[in-house]
Amino acid sequence: GSPEIDTKKGFGGVMQTFDNTRPVVAAMAVGVGRAALEEMRRLIEEAGHEIDYDKPAAAQHAAVAEFIRLESDWEAGWLLTLRAAWMMDNREPNSVEASMSKAKAGRTVTDITNKAVEVGATVGFAETSLLEKWARDAKILDIFEGTQQIQQLIIARRILGKSSSDLR
Ligand SMILES: Cc1cc2nc3c(=O)[nH]c(=O)nc-3n(C[C@H](O)[C@H](O)[C@H](O)COP(=O)(O)OP(=O)(O)OC[C@H]3O[C@@H](n4cnc5c(N)ncnc54)[C@H](O)[C@@H]3O)c2cc1C
Repeated sequence: GSPEIDTKKGFGGVMQTFDNTRPVVAAMAVGVGRAALEEMRRLIEEAGHEIDYDKPAAAQHAAVAEFIRLESDWEAGWLLTLRAAWMMDNREPNSVEASMSKAKAGRTVTDITNKAVEVGATVGFAETSLLEKWARDAKILDIFEGTQQIQQLIIARRILGKSSSDLR
């Protein structure tokens, strides 16, 4: 921005910065989530269970059903992140899309990494695997650059046409 400091524009400037940084945090969540899913897949297959995308999840092993649920959530987070980042690159206003990507990817990465620890059992919480580290790393992605609840507030205001004093 301008080298002149205008304190009246401070809050708006910070909010605009978030339009660029929230998709980046969402991308970090997408990356950690994908890594945990791949490790979870490896453990499931090593245990002799096939992940079959042509069969209903409920008709497969419980760990496989969880994997399919988490992977579909991950894909939604990934697509929302790509959209928010694409809009950013193309200089389109993306505040609500940036919040959507951050909200979905932040929630999903905590869900995936915690479930991967659970499914991995002794491997999941052993320090010989990265699963327990990724589970510890994940939560901050749901907190900084605006928490899950704040993203939902921003999205709800925009969708319902409410101001920040109407919906706080
Ligand atoms: C490890 C770590 C690293 C960080 N790094 C940075 C950094 O590098 N730079 C930086 O600027 N900041 C950083 N932060 C700060 C981070 O962005 C804030 O902690 C985060 O945005 C939450 O704000 P807060 O701590 O003020 O919580 P609060 O606003 O006090 O919120 C506390 C809880 O209440 C909920 N809440 C608050 N308001 C509402 C509402 N209206 N409706 C519903 N729920 C609500 C929140 O979601 C949260 O769960 C970091 C934080 C941590 C923990």
